[in-house]
Amino acid sequence: MLNSDYALNLEKKIVLVTGGSRGIGKQISLQLALAGAKVYVNYVSSEEKAISCCKEIESGGGNAEAIQFNVADKNQVDIAISNIIKKEGCLDILVNNAGISIDGLSVRCKKEDWDRVINTNLTGTFNCSSKAALFMMKNRSGRIINITSVVGQMGNAGQAAYASSKAGIIGLTKSMAKEFASRGITVNAVAPGFIETEMTDDLSEKRRQIYLDSIPVGRFGKKEEVALAVQYLCSDLAGFITGQILGVNGGMYV
Ligand code: NAP
Repeated sequence: MLNSDYALNLEKKIVLVTGGSRGIGKQISLQLALAGAKVYVNYVSSEEKAISCCKEIESGGGNAEAIQFNVADKNQVDIAISNIIKKEGCLDILVNNAGISIDGLSVRCKKEDWDRVINTNLTGTFNCSSKAALFMMKNRSGRIINITSVVGQMGNAGQAAYASSKAGIIGLTKSMAKEFASRGITVNAVAPGFIETEMTDDLSEKRRQIYLDSIPVGRFGKKEEVALAVQYLCSDLAGFITGQILGVNGGMYV
């Protein structure tokens, strides 16, 4: 069934990337815009970075708009997504990328830190997906891609809240995939392993080597490699894929 209609291009698609202002989310925004989509770049506090991401997209001939809201706040999410749909007449693709981590051993984890991580990562993904899906179901078409983590699959000492939130996203992905499949919506997750970011740049040489030793391909991943996996799942090529967790981890978890 090779057919030129099946392609990775996303022309005329309206996309929302949560936490698109920096890091992996910024790379996803750049990649989807390069594929032809209009991208709404969400942020919670980094207005300048979100605007600069949009400018970078526009200077390459793409189309983007920054949009401020807190994914953990259901009311803000509902208003923001309604506004996008009112303005564009559509929301084709949602990428739930916004995420935080507050690390520490579980016995020392403060209740407010636990709540913040779960509310941002897991409840934030639920808030955005449930609102977007209401429109996508009526439209009988849509793509939802959730950014989870290898840590949600493996667990990690010192990251109980983060790992729990990311494991929760996997359950949410599979459940929503089953609920929405008959309405033309696919729901998948991308689970990055260690990706080169400002965080990995700051590691000591010793710590860096310990992490590298746990990755069979012998290197950290690149943001671009995560963004390309997201683009594939957004595209027409991935229409028969739903409820899946695509690891981008260099073999760290198989
Ligand atoms: P990052 O650089 O820390 O960026 C986080 C993004 O999320 C920022 O755009 C931030 O917005 C946004 N955000 C945080 N809280 C928010 C909220 N309440 N509402 C809306 N936006 C919010 O993160 P990253 O390292 O690129 O990670 C991106 C995603 O990949 C996360 O879900 C993370 O868990 C996952 N991941 C990362 C790695 C890795 O190696 N980096 C590995 C596995 C999974 P502001 O700029 O406004 O603060």
